[in-house]
Amino acid sequence: MDESTCKICLEKEQDIPISFFLDDEVIVCKKCLERFRVHKKTYRIHNVNYHILYEYDTWIEGLFFQFKEQRDIVLKDIFLYAEKDFLKKKLKSFDCIALCSGEEKRALRGFEPVLEIFKEVKEPIASPFYRTDSIKQSSLSKEQRKQIHCSLKKKICYPIRNRSRQLLLDDVITTGQTIKAALLLISCRDVLVLAAHPLWIEEHADDQIKHSFWK
Ligand SMILES: [Zn+2]
Repeated sequence: MDESTCKICLEKEQDIPISFFLDDEVIVCKKCLERFRVHKKTYRIHNVNYHILYEYDTWIEGLFFQFKEQRDIVLKDIFLYAEKDFLKKKLKSFDCIALCSGEEKRALRGFEPVLEIFKEVKEPIASPFYRTDSIKQSSLSKEQRKQIHCSLKKKICYPIRNRSRQLLLDDVITTGQTIKAALLLISCRDVLVLAAHPLWIEEHADDQIKHSFWK
């Protein structure tokens, strides 16, 4: 098998033996790369900078589904593929903290999506949270989502360096409730999110600021 095979479109076409994933370099073809809706904007909400890499759409939704729900772990490297070098440099000055899935999902998947995606560009990443919920957020009502802070908890005695350059990492922002809940437990002035839902972007259009993060 060709080592330069795109992991995204190949995945849709045929089964690849598991050994292929372990040894070969990750490559995403140009056609697939172009399908990511690069956003690269920063929003300031209650004094916190939200740095958004992509706009959430059906393309990335499909990839997240394949990666997170169908547990296609090989896709972990495709999300930051084009931004790897940029983010490696950018995240050097930050202490990174990852948001987490619910315990049930973690057990089912056997991996933490946010950690898997970002460890390619940053190590170590702190993981001080745990969640007692496991329901997909989009299946919850607005009121139920507001209660999500009740299910996000911080591990007791988890050592976190108290530095001002802490960066909270998450994969998707839909309502922002999970991140808000995390910010109540840990003080971060910066958040990096892989993909923001268009409704979130629309809602926060006035919060967009000029920021050096994406430069
Ligand atoms: Zn491709």
